[in-house]
Amino acid sequence: MDEKQELQFRKTFDSLVSEAWNLCFLPRSSQLQQLAIKALEKFRDEEVLTAKKRLCAAGNDAGARTMLYHHSIVDAMVFELAMWMELNNQDHERAWRYLVAAQAAVRGALNARPQSKVNMWAKKLRQIETCVFPPMLFFSIGITAHERTCSICETAIESCDHVPGRIYGGEFCRLLIPTSTQHECSVVLNPENKACIALRYDFFGDLVNAFTWEVTEDERAKDDEGSDGHIIEAIVTPGLLQRVRYNIADPRARDIVKKQHFCVSLALDDKSGRLPLPTQNE
Ligand SMILES: [Zn+2]
Repeated sequence: MDEKQELQFRKTFDSLVSEAWNLCFLPRSSQLQQLAIKALEKFRDEEVLTAKKRLCAAGNDAGARTMLYHHSIVDAMVFELAMWMELNNQDHERAWRYLVAAQAAVRGALNARPQSKVNMWAKKLRQIETCVFPPMLFFSIGITAHERTCSICETAIESCDHVPGRIYGGEFCRLLIPTSTQHECSVVLNPENKACIALRYDFFGDLVNAFTWEVTEDERAKDDEGSDGHIIEAIVTPGLLQRVRYNIADPRARDIVKKQHFCVSLALDDKSGRLPLPTQNE
């Protein structure tokens, strides 16, 4: 990229990001948000990725790292816009997944280029997490990995020099676990992956939606009649395909659940939704 091309690249990047930033609010038009997403994705695929590939081939690590930063920023912008669109679309679960993806992309951008401005964005997303969404209950799985592979050289992680989390040739090194056995899943406060969440809780016999707090009923709910304890329907593994039911009768889970604010409701003795009065120590 010569000086003129670099200037043009920066100009396009700045204008796309500032236009998108202006659309990152709930009342903004979904149509405009969709157009902004398309423009960002086009720029990412046609400009950023091409430049990154060229810089890597030329052995320009610093340049490739800069492109990784741009790539992460564009992804974060796309995910945040998609989150607002899904919130308007009332698909709260998808909106949550986009929020988590946006947070990961912003962390990637910070990792590629530590910068205070991006730090502000991370704070904004954290505020959205706590102010726009209700408190979530997270899950973490215990597994035995049969294979641990490096995403950069695709060999066993123990036998290569790459370190997960570090940047090589414009890419983050990631630890891949292609095959594993799952042993257990736990309710946790600080999960590895915030996409692993409870979707519905058993609330005195009713299954309530974790986002809307509406009572939901379906065939799967009926299957559980007569089971003991509270049931949580949750996504417990990344990839969001597996949904299991988790029984809060397990005392370890109950203890953690109690620490979550929303679960104060589970301790209520009626369905009125009233919260118990705090004691003097609280
Ligand atoms: Zn490697």
